[in-house]
Amino acid sequence: MLTVQNLYKQFGSLVAVRQFSLTVGKGETVVLMGPSGCGKSTAIRVINRLIEPDEGSVLLNGVNVIGLNADELRDVRKRIGFVFQHFNLIGRLTALENVMLGMVMSGMQQDTARDKAVEALTKVGLESHLQHKPGELSGGQQQRVGIARALAYEPELMLWDEPTASLDPILVREVLVVMEDLARNRASGMIVVTHELPFALRVADRIVLMDQGSIVEEGEPSRVFVRPVSEIGGKYKELIE
Ligand code: ADP
Ligand code: MG
Repeated sequence: MLTVQNLYKQFGSLVAVRQFSLTVGKGETVVLMGPSGCGKSTAIRVINRLIEPDEGSVLLNGVNVIGLNADELRDVRKRIGFVFQHFNLIGRLTALENVMLGMVMSGMQQDTARDKAVEALTKVGLESHLQHKPGELSGGQQQRVGIARALAYEPELMLWDEPTASLDPILVREVLVVMEDLARNRASGMIVVTHELPFALRVADRIVLMDQGSIVEEGEPSRVFVRPVSEIGGKYKELIE
């Protein structure tokens, strides 16, 4: 479904990502891990062109996303959901309106957008909070609204950039539960950037480890965290033991 080939991205003289190649099958969950600053966010942001790479291609069902014009890109982005660390909800809108907003802005009928938004909010367990504003929701609930906003488009691919990193530990779990549920359901392929090791162990079909801009190891969690071949892999193994 997704084939990323040889991404290269430099910021000034700093090489953020080099020789980054990755495939994600339909419904597959890939967990991308590595130390802070190793290039994870840059790599996944290139996939929906929040960042333009210097080199490389991103094939979504055979179509290279790099090189699409603005109209074509808008269509592709509807098929790629992105969940960020900071959920950026609009404070004066309800949960339902926050989820509907993007769909309505892109020309969808109000009724259709409402139906899709209710369905997505139900999937994340917020069916009884449709009319709540972000300020009336916990951080975990706000992030679940953020997830629903991405899910409403029924994306083929979901990109997650440390979705639990700004939540306090008690609220992390409810978000991980939703993510695990989505991964098991296999409606979307997923690339999840996270430091949550137990989640990665349990949920990932494949682990990809990065260090200093490059992929240093890739495999099933039962292999990567048990018989790592990279230095970073060895550090994760120690953390699990
Ligand atoms: P990670 O998500 O793994 O923490 P990032 O992809 O955010 O890493 O960053 C990789 C490297 O690129 C870091 O050294 C970071 O400081 C640098 N970087 C990221 N974005 C920019 C930018 N817009 N301008 C300059 N440097 C950047
Ligand atoms: Mg990051």
